[in-house]
Amino acid sequence: MSTAVLTVRDLSVRFRMRGGGLVAAVSCADFDLAAGECLALVGESGCGKSVLASALLGLLPGNAETAGTATVDGVELLGADERTLARTVRGRRIALVPQSPAAHLTPVRTVRSQLEETLRELTGTPRRQLRAAAVAAAERAAFPASHLDRHPHELSGGLAQRAATALALVGDAPLLLADEPTTGLDRALVDRTADELRRHVTDGADGRALLMITHDLAAARRIADRVAVMYAGRIVEIADAEAFFGRPGPRHPYARGLLAALPERGFTPIPGLPPELSDLPPGCAFAARCDRATDRCGTRPGFTGGLACHHPVTAVAADPAPDRG
Ligand code: SF4
Repeated sequence: MSTAVLTVRDLSVRFRMRGGGLVAAVSCADFDLAAGECLALVGESGCGKSVLASALLGLLPGNAETAGTATVDGVELLGADERTLARTVRGRRIALVPQSPAAHLTPVRTVRSQLEETLRELTGTPRRQLRAAAVAAAERAAFPASHLDRHPHELSGGLAQRAATALALVGDAPLLLADEPTTGLDRALVDRTADELRRHVTDGADGRALLMITHDLAAARRIADRVAVMYAGRIVEIADAEAFFGRPGPRHPYARGLLAALPERGFTPIPGLPPELSDLPPGCAFAARCDRATDRCGTRPGFTGGLACHHPVTAVAADPAPDRG
């Protein structure tokens, strides 16, 4: 059995607002990520996915309050001080593949210079070996050596993504965290980027894992082993990707709605809007939009067997909504 690279237990993030209000951005997230595995964390914008990523990297703003635990490669992240996070976590245990590579790269420096600096910092590569090491690092992300002396603005979107990925891989971190890595790319480039991320997990002899945060279900389907669906700050379903995208399909009504809203699956939107994270109902947060809701859903469902739902769908073909009486 593979060892867990990332273990998240009961992780919650709240933001204390001026005036005393609380925004429950992440509630009770609970999952493991094994070496060699790709987990796609999916859900609509604003559901808490990126806040969860920021919590893992220790990049939450000062008004955040956290609870629970998150452990990577033996290091507990939530209690770690800034020095520990900067010296032993970011880049070394968790490599971030950013949402906007072009913005993430330093605009006034060439890719080579940024790679050499990262190599010096993370691996202690001696000066005389830096040039060859930068070429090798670029090669790992399929970034052409012929473009190493270019500045970020001279790169296409795909090459900027590869440059950012090359930088992320330098420290050989066991966890690759890709936060919306395909935003703004055309379909062909989305596929290629997703495949490359997957390759770094599959080919890594050193037990790397990938947590891909995305609203792009096609990209998730392409490379994920498992899918975690987030709604209103909560993970409501974790399932094997093949069963989730194929048969029997998702079991949580929101997850089913997400798939049904895809153009190739009928384009049926989920009615209504998600609740404000500052004003969540006491029961299931999806109840106002759910055609399976009953009185029981006024009580918050626990997360058991990979699901947080009182009336999950149990069969593909015909599973009528429960009797509301
Ligand atoms: S708990 Fe109830 S309201 Fe929430 S998703 Fe399940 S059936 Fe729908």
